[in-house]
Amino acid sequence: MATDDQKPIYYDSHMHTPLCKHAFGQPTAYGRTAMRRGLRGIVMTCHSPMPGGFSASVRMAPEEFPEYLGLVESAAEQLEGQVEIKLGLESDWFPGMEGWLRELHGRADFHYILGSVHPFLPEYKDAFYEGDPVAFQRGYFAHLADAAETGLFDCLSHPDIVKVMVASSWDFRLVESAVAAALDRIAATGIAMELNTSGVNKSYPEMNPGPEMLGMIAARGIPMVVSSDSHRPERVGADFGAALAMLEDAGIEEVSYFHERRRHGLPVARVRDSLRATVPN
Ligand SMILES: [Zn+2]
Ligand SMILES: [Zn+2]
Repeated sequence: MATDDQKPIYYDSHMHTPLCKHAFGQPTAYGRTAMRRGLRGIVMTCHSPMPGGFSASVRMAPEEFPEYLGLVESAAEQLEGQVEIKLGLESDWFPGMEGWLRELHGRADFHYILGSVHPFLPEYKDAFYEGDPVAFQRGYFAHLADAAETGLFDCLSHPDIVKVMVASSWDFRLVESAVAAALDRIAATGIAMELNTSGVNKSYPEMNPGPEMLGMIAARGIPMVVSSDSHRPERVGADFGAALAMLEDAGIEEVSYFHERRRHGLPVARVRDSLRATVPN
């Protein structure tokens, strides 16, 4: 018989569907992994459709948006009573797209909207890369703060993903002042930030953000959400134990998730225990 502290209480709030053309498996398969790992549910956050062909090869087309809603809804119905499958979105921040996103976010009852700056998109590089990787990295952090200040998003995804672009040029000391200035602006908006476990599999193999930036986030009291950014069902909940330990090492005692676009905080220790009570990762 499961005791109260063994009940699933946390969500993995960042994952994709085949509609983005670079993820595999149906939402029900992601939901089943979540169950095995002791999660209460998942939030599907596929890449937002964008207008005018903007990076069209890595996202659903605007006309596929209703199909996305249907996919998530039907998965939620199929696994009802076993695991929660909620509707979210990973929206791309890019200058001039705010009006499109505002309208898009009003088209469905989202539980959670991630705001992402994706510096590796050709459109982003064309606009902002001028040959100096460090200047590019510093600009990326200012853009994160710009994204936060739009008020369009609940949480900023993988907030140092720029480090994977030219991993050899990444030196936190060179960007620290830009990170500090961005985090001051971000903290003032009340938005959450993500600790994204998929970073451990990238060219700069550590979570996004890494420990230095996480310490600066902790110092400003910015709420944190742990998520996997799964593009395959088997990664749901991956490395959550390590991520929760990283939060604790940074002095962060609360971890968040969103429901109906409102933030809920849980003690890190309780979440860790709820995951431990089930099949190991
Ligand atoms: Zn992303
Ligand atoms: Zn993602």
